[in-house]
Amino acid sequence: MRFINLFFLTALILLKVTSLNAQTNKILFSQDLRFKSDSTTHYGKLLLYDDFSSEWIVSSRSNEISKKDSLRDVLRKISSKSDIFTKFWSNTNLFPYPKQVLHKMTDSIEINLTKNSGFHLPPNDHIFSPFGWRRNRQHKGIDLDLNIGDTLRSAFSGKVRFADFNNGGYGNLVIIRHFNGLETYYAHLDKLIIQPNDIVLAGDIIGLGGETGRALGPHLHFEVRYKDVAFNSQNIIDYDKGVLKPSANYNNNSIYYLTKSDFSWVDVNNKRAAANNKKKYYKLKSGDYIGKVAVKYNTTVKKILKLNPKLKNLNSLQIGQVIRVR
Ligand SMILES: [Zn+2]
Repeated sequence: MRFINLFFLTALILLKVTSLNAQTNKILFSQDLRFKSDSTTHYGKLLLYDDFSSEWIVSSRSNEISKKDSLRDVLRKISSKSDIFTKFWSNTNLFPYPKQVLHKMTDSIEINLTKNSGFHLPPNDHIFSPFGWRRNRQHKGIDLDLNIGDTLRSAFSGKVRFADFNNGGYGNLVIIRHFNGLETYYAHLDKLIIQPNDIVLAGDIIGLGGETGRALGPHLHFEVRYKDVAFNSQNIIDYDKGVLKPSANYNNNSIYYLTKSDFSWVDVNNKRAAANNKKKYYKLKSGDYIGKVAVKYNTTVKKILKLNPKLKNLNSLQIGQVIRVR
């Protein structure tokens, strides 16, 4: 009897230790895999932990995995004949479409958000920075909180158009063009896990979160674009509830109608740029100096001097003198 009690106690302690280990070992990477040996196919999931140990979990859902693989094969065939994936396709150019004027369109564009394999929600714990005007330029995506090494997955099914480092600020960047016609951008990744031209289903792993490129701390910069023109992903995704925001539902598909209002920010920015480009003059008052005027008009001393070629000696400035500031 005492022996049995001791046995259970040891088993309990062991269980406790095992579960503690499971908690401290964070999964860096997990991927559904199948491999063949001795003419049998094995299905399972490969897990890589943050101490770089790995584990192979045999899947009882082999049917599901092979179903996914055959769906991927079907999508590969569809994509090879679809205009979406054969026209204006580039693995090197970020924006391959001809210039669009979507903010003036009179029609709406039907987007079947869940076409072919549904939707996978991007990290939604916390929105660092929304879509919109920020630090004198348009922030064309949404910044989502994550930890370095967090698994990132494709939002919709599609074909990987770009997977490479971008030195324009995106850092390690994945662009996926989707069967619904949209493109999603995933920037600042630590590692890229897919290759250009891979076919992905919604929820397939594409990379690990990071802070590469122009990023102040780890986050996902997530963009949604139609023919290269960005729009606010909060128009189609409710990040609080973790669901899509379709305009309509047909046959279990979530449909969104893109209209010019999704792209109205382009119009606002064009007006802003036109106003900024208009010539503007300023009459110097007592106590003014060029640096102060530059700050007032959101410009630099260098730019003001360039606009006023005659202004060589900053010490000779007079009260009442008119200078060009834009
Ligand atoms: Zn961003």
